[in-house]
Amino acid sequence: MKKVTIVGAGLVGSLQAVYMAKRGWQVEVFERRPDLRKAEIDAGRSINLVVARHGWKSLEEAGIADEIRKLTIPVYGRMIHDEKGDTNFQPYSVKGKAIHSVSRSGLNAKLMDCAEQYQNVKFHFSERCSDVDLNNATAIFENSETGKQTNISADLIIGADGAYSEVRHRMMMTDRFNYSQQYIEHGYKEIHFPPNDDGTPKMQQDALHIWPRKNYMLMGLSNLDGGFTGTLFFPFESDGWSFGSIKTENDVTRFFEEVFPDAIPLIPNFAEQYFANPTSSLVIVRCYPWTYKNVMLIGDAAHAIVPFYGEGMNCGFEDCFVFDQLMDEFDEDLNRVLPEYGKSRKPNGDAIADLSMRNFIEMRDLVADPQFVLRKKIEAKIYAQYPEKWIPLYSQVKFTDIPYSEALKEGQRQDEIMKKILRKDGIMENWDSEDVEREILEMI
Ligand SMILES: Cc1cc2nc3c(=O)[nH]c(=O)nc-3n(C[C@H](O)[C@H](O)[C@H](O)COP(=O)(O)OP(=O)(O)OC[C@H]3O[C@@H](n4cnc5c(N)ncnc54)[C@H](O)[C@@H]3O)c2cc1C
Repeated sequence: MKKVTIVGAGLVGSLQAVYMAKRGWQVEVFERRPDLRKAEIDAGRSINLVVARHGWKSLEEAGIADEIRKLTIPVYGRMIHDEKGDTNFQPYSVKGKAIHSVSRSGLNAKLMDCAEQYQNVKFHFSERCSDVDLNNATAIFENSETGKQTNISADLIIGADGAYSEVRHRMMMTDRFNYSQQYIEHGYKEIHFPPNDDGTPKMQQDALHIWPRKNYMLMGLSNLDGGFTGTLFFPFESDGWSFGSIKTENDVTRFFEEVFPDAIPLIPNFAEQYFANPTSSLVIVRCYPWTYKNVMLIGDAAHAIVPFYGEGMNCGFEDCFVFDQLMDEFDEDLNRVLPEYGKSRKPNGDAIADLSMRNFIEMRDLVADPQFVLRKKIEAKIYAQYPEKWIPLYSQVKFTDIPYSEALKEGQRQDEIMKKILRKDGIMENWDSEDVEREILEMI
């Protein structure tokens, strides 16, 4: 039986364990943390996540989508909260499509359970990978409780150990390995919105709530318990409000009163949470090649991106799916599968990194901009009438499995067309006219 060592039992490592188990490999997964299903630990950086089409396709192929779907809440659009406290719902799709909110720890636990249903899978916890011998596909693990070191050899090592990957770190020491890491000027802080005392939600549950405020924004995504995970995306330093400028409870109260007044009744202890919860940074990691001999990177280890499209995990899940397809195509010949895997996924990892930064600007600045809202209306109309000719970029990314690299290119082409249309005199009044429609069709 062929042996695979997976480093990291996060979201992607656990799904990859399912895929490899189905192939009949002997799968050993080593995770540096204790088992999150047993220990009361923070299961990661964000309390909930969005699953969308690229992710669903990969879960379906692994045969576990129905199990996962039970843990999710559908989200049909954005609810924009303006400075006056007024709200405006913008559906994601004219076709009533939804993305799905899920608890990170609940999802991670379920993925591990799914993998463990296979006899040929074993998880090892509190085992930190401290080194990898790339030439011999041997990984060294250190047990954080006993201090014991173990050397594990396999036919394949999969580094699914996240944005600060140890496996990648070792690959960086090889010749011609390209690597870049960029911290953006914004970080984030989670702030929990509790449900009402009777467990009912305080806001509409099937919407992603956004308080866009140009240089920063607050977001709320629903949890199964009726509460919401709020995330404040905020610059570390700036001339206006920033993490750096808020030093006291008084500052944070003034900040909320000034910019998020309608959120205050929803989060009674916001000031306390602001100081109690950690501030986290956001990093973009690009590297290549993703494979070296019989060692490969997957998920955030290969492509860490900013979270503004909610696609990091979805993209990582798709890595698992594509790798599996290539294993079929090349009859598990790793000499052919591994280079092909890197070559086919890298452009998509890069594209979703670019798309994610672009969506940050869209979310924090544009959703409140009348020109942006008009563009969405025009696009929705064209999409409804000519779905084979025009799929809005957001729908391409979230509701289709069009490769991210193609979606990015198509999005740029759509931008050019819409720029011309939005410059037309009287477009605010005539956007629905036959003339405008004809002009767009000609440009397509
Ligand atoms: C605020 C925020 C919101 C997000 N929202 C979304 C979203 O809505 N949708 C979406 O698709 N993505 C989202 N993402 C991205 C998503 O969290 C990541 O893309 C995803 O977690 C990547 O999974 P992974 O398994 O590759 O890495 P990770 O989840 O980081 O898992 C890596 C695992 O490896 C373990 N590990 C690390 N080092 C070692 C070592 N040396 N030895 C052994 N084990 C090790 C870690 O403990 C961890 O369990 C969000 C990210 C953030 C920060």
